[in-house]
Amino acid sequence: MAGSYHYWNIRADLIGFHTHDYTQHFIKTVKRTTGFECRQNVIYTPNKLVKADAFPIGIDYDKFHSACLDKYVLAEKQKIKNFLSGQKLIFSIDRLDYSKGLLLRLKGFETFLEKFPKWHSKVVFNMVVIPSRDNIEKYKDMKKEIESTVGRINGKYSSLVWRPIIYQYKSLSFNELVALYDLSDVGLITPLRDGMNLVAKEYIACQIENKGVLILSEMAGAAAELNEALIINPADNSEMADSIYSALEMEPEEKHTRLERMQNRISSYNVFTWAYDFFNQTFDTREQQKSMDVKFINKPISSQIISDYQNAGRRILFLDYDGTLVPFAKFPELQLLIKIH
Ligand code: UDP
Repeated sequence: MAGSYHYWNIRADLIGFHTHDYTQHFIKTVKRTTGFECRQNVIYTPNKLVKADAFPIGIDYDKFHSACLDKYVLAEKQKIKNFLSGQKLIFSIDRLDYSKGLLLRLKGFETFLEKFPKWHSKVVFNMVVIPSRDNIEKYKDMKKEIESTVGRINGKYSSLVWRPIIYQYKSLSFNELVALYDLSDVGLITPLRDGMNLVAKEYIACQIENKGVLILSEMAGAAAELNEALIINPADNSEMADSIYSALEMEPEEKHTRLERMQNRISSYNVFTWAYDFFNQTFDTREQQKSMDVKFINKPISSQIISDYQNAGRRILFLDYDGTLVPFAKFPELQLLIKIH
């Protein structure tokens, strides 16, 4: 189909992606498959220009940040604190999905327990999996495998008074979610592939005391913005284990500096700025399209018109009205009525 662009049409005026990389992949694919000219994120289709750009989706930062002081969230936090009795808390929250790297994450945590016995009894990993598509056979199998891996690791390392993994297969309420974000010392967000990953941003927004560390997969779109996180390859067990260790041992000043930079970024480019930017660029694109529709009369065309007019036996002139003979009016039909009267 390369070059046969008659078969292709892009209906959208503006196409948004979470990252610059995704945008460039899309534009390259359009160029290769359609033959359309593409320059500086603009695709010139036969009918109109189409823009593709990066719009990393944001979160309602203030909602998450301020919720940490809500009385119901404080009550949830107290429950978790009572349970922990001084242990450090690592969390992850994802839908049950292949792309989330759940099994590899468990194996990474197991490698951490193997490599760093000094942390036994001192850390708990709360893995929350949100039910999703579990009526599909493959997802059921994945769920079983996760549960048996959790059982195996807990069986191997638990003591009478400590269980390294607390596994929950359920959704959390907003208050429970914020309490978990706020209290967790480490966010272990390691998808194999993720367009953005909002959980990573929400965790950063809930760090009101700036004492948490985010471990983030390089395969999550959020990694492009949250580059002060500990960025890891989600398939590398050993790197994951070492990052958990580094996160738990990190000095408070370093945690603070990393978090503050990420918070500044995601609080300014939040969900409202994101929506505004998206709409604004849509309007800009429409304006650019209009300017391309205008066909200016050049010298040869105007000479042709003049000579055709002079040589014609009978002449009829068609003139545009609004914006040509009279200025644009907000309600042109009213203007017409006034004139008739
Ligand atoms: N979330 C939820 N219920 C829960 C836990 C999380 O609705 O019990 C929300 C969470 O706050 C986040 C979203 O689910 O906004 C997950 O988005 P993300 O981009 O991380 O992953 P996705 O599921 O879209 O791939």
